[in-house]
Amino acid sequence: MNAFGIVFRGALVFDGSGAAPVTGDVALEGERIAAVEAAGVIAPCANEIDARGLALAPGFIDAHTHDDRIVLDKPAMLPKISQGVTTVVVGNCGISLAPVTFSADPPAPMNLLGGCEAYQFPNFAAYAEALRRVTPAVNVAALIGHSALRLATMMDISRKASPAQVEQMCRHADEAMAHGATGFSTGLFYPTNMAADEDEVSTVAARFARHGGIYATHMRNEFDKVLDSIDETVRTAAAAAIPVVVSHHKCAGPANWGRTRETLPRLEDAARRHPVNLDVYPYAAGSTNLRADLVSGDYPIRISWSKPHPEMAGRELSSIAAEWNCDLHEAARRLDPAGAIYFQMDEDDVRRVMGSPIAMIGSDGLPHDVHPHPRLWGTFPRVIGHYARELRLFSMETAIHKMTGLPARVFGLKDRGHVTAGAFADLVLFDPRAIIDRATYDSPLQPSAGIERVYVNGQLSFARDRGVVARSGRLVGGKN
Ligand SMILES: [Zn+2]
Repeated sequence: MNAFGIVFRGALVFDGSGAAPVTGDVALEGERIAAVEAAGVIAPCANEIDARGLALAPGFIDAHTHDDRIVLDKPAMLPKISQGVTTVVVGNCGISLAPVTFSADPPAPMNLLGGCEAYQFPNFAAYAEALRRVTPAVNVAALIGHSALRLATMMDISRKASPAQVEQMCRHADEAMAHGATGFSTGLFYPTNMAADEDEVSTVAARFARHGGIYATHMRNEFDKVLDSIDETVRTAAAAAIPVVVSHHKCAGPANWGRTRETLPRLEDAARRHPVNLDVYPYAAGSTNLRADLVSGDYPIRISWSKPHPEMAGRELSSIAAEWNCDLHEAARRLDPAGAIYFQMDEDDVRRVMGSPIAMIGSDGLPHDVHPHPRLWGTFPRVIGHYARELRLFSMETAIHKMTGLPARVFGLKDRGHVTAGAFADLVLFDPRAIIDRATYDSPLQPSAGIERVYVNGQLSFARDRGVVARSGRLVGGKN
């Protein structure tokens, strides 16, 4: 009998299904898992890893990212792989690098991914080719953003698209799905997307559905009208016959704190009739562009970057305003274009959302920010270490399911998200007693603790003492 390539001995194996972990041995051959057995069944091989006292889980799937450009520019992907992430879903909130180019600075929120030099991909095939050429350390599943489609096909994005423009967007959908995209996203909250009505969204979404795509949405409103937005989301997805993911679900603004008691039953009820899921990050602050409509004295606001005042990254908006002797809105105007972190959520809501059976974990990290929200570096170890181990909000196997088996199913990531014979060997070996986030709002660029080794497609890609040692990620999802 042939010996396997690598055997992990005595690991506490979390299989990704949400089942309780069992101690056993796991063998890899090439890029796949070859066997999962009780101790002593698998024959010795040359590369034996003593995993006693450690947990072995499927590599984490970051269900919500804006990593479209960073996977090309900094393909080691240290902020993510150092957390045990092996797959990132890019193209969220209507924002994607393909299929659009710009001759001047892109409008917000497209500028979250960079300036016009970042946008070099007039079609998805060109983006997929760039990924292949670079080979990032993590796998990439790609959504196509509605703002990108609108900016690629419309002169005046302050209007609803004409039937001819919708048809052009649909042709982009055909092209993207043919080259391995996973689906569609909207950011109806954003100026580049908000003029699209339900009809425009569902017509484009239906075209993605025809190719087996999925739909993720940053809803029109996460404040007072959050229930209306949920109803719009479910109607639109049902009309398009497409599975839907509500992005970074929250009830924002102090007036809406506690309202996840209304929103979650609404979403979970809808999920009984139509495939509905949500993603959530484990923090009570959000982050996006600095926007006049989000500037308020009701909650603290921190600057994450500013083009005219880069020195203000990391500072509180109120302290900047005090220093400049002006009000918050005037300070925000002077900082613009800029990014900000808004402490606009209630911790109990965050926990309630994370605990929902339809909730997946997504970092929503913004990798180009100077002083990013700590979710970029800390999301996954925080859910496991803080919320599961320390607070016992749910079991560790449930936490892991929300970042492995569940998103693999929702995004159609074939043979991923599970530790089972035949699956791709995307794996994370971690210390279940030590895993925890270290990134904070004051010091956000900190790797997490407790992640020992990360494998991507069978390759050892990250080791605690050596950092990123290989890159073997690929385009996943869709027809891949
Ligand atoms: Zn968003």
